[in-house]
Amino acid sequence: MSALVRRALAFAAEKHRKQLRKDADRTPYMNHVVAVAATLRHVGGVTDPEILAAALLHDTVEDTETTPDELERAFGPRVRALVAELTDDKSLAKDVRKELQVEHADGLSPEAKQLKLCDKICNVLDVTHSPAVGWSLERRREYLDWTARVIAHCRGVNPALEARYDQVLAAGREALDRAGEAGVG
Ligand code: NDP
Ligand code: ZN
Repeated sequence: MSALVRRALAFAAEKHRKQLRKDADRTPYMNHVVAVAATLRHVGGVTDPEILAAALLHDTVEDTETTPDELERAFGPRVRALVAELTDDKSLAKDVRKELQVEHADGLSPEAKQLKLCDKICNVLDVTHSPAVGWSLERRREYLDWTARVIAHCRGVNPALEARYDQVLAAGREALDRAGEAGVG
């Protein structure tokens, strides 16, 4: 692991240290960030330290008090720019933010599209296997459908990540269908 990636890991762990995912086990937020970076490296075959660092840092500006300037000072302008491409404007309503992700995906850089693929792969797995507490089957299905609309604009950049996304989406839909037939949710 490069020094940059090691520093990004430590930085993200510190920034997310008090945050939990929304699942019933209250998984540490950091698990998600590490899963996104590991997917990029081991499924996507990406070795560029700045892109891997951006994966580890992708939720720091959106979900912690981290500023873009702080990221640039610590990790340089390219990492700052990549994280900015992955950051939603939290001043907007959630449904507006979700539509903007679909609209903006086309214009993302190829590197940001690969990060987006990994984030959605990990979130589809979460929604399938360890969903947010209180989410109905319908809501989980709507979430999967929304990721598909975003990812439709992130293709042509990394075939292995696209194939993994297609696989986890299909498996997720099947699992939710089975749960529906079994009367769960
Ligand atoms: P969000 O989309 O904000 O929540 C999902 C996000 O939370 C993920 O993208 C992920 O983001 C993060 N997350 C953390 N833990 C988990 C987990 N265990 N499983 C999945 N995601 C997790 O949902 P909101 O609650 O804010 O709702 C927003 C949208 O949902 C609105 O557009 C609204 O219309 C719709 N909605 C639908 C309802 C329904 O019943 N059909 C009811 C209410 C709202 P990250 O990777 O960035 O951390
Ligand atoms: Zn994320």
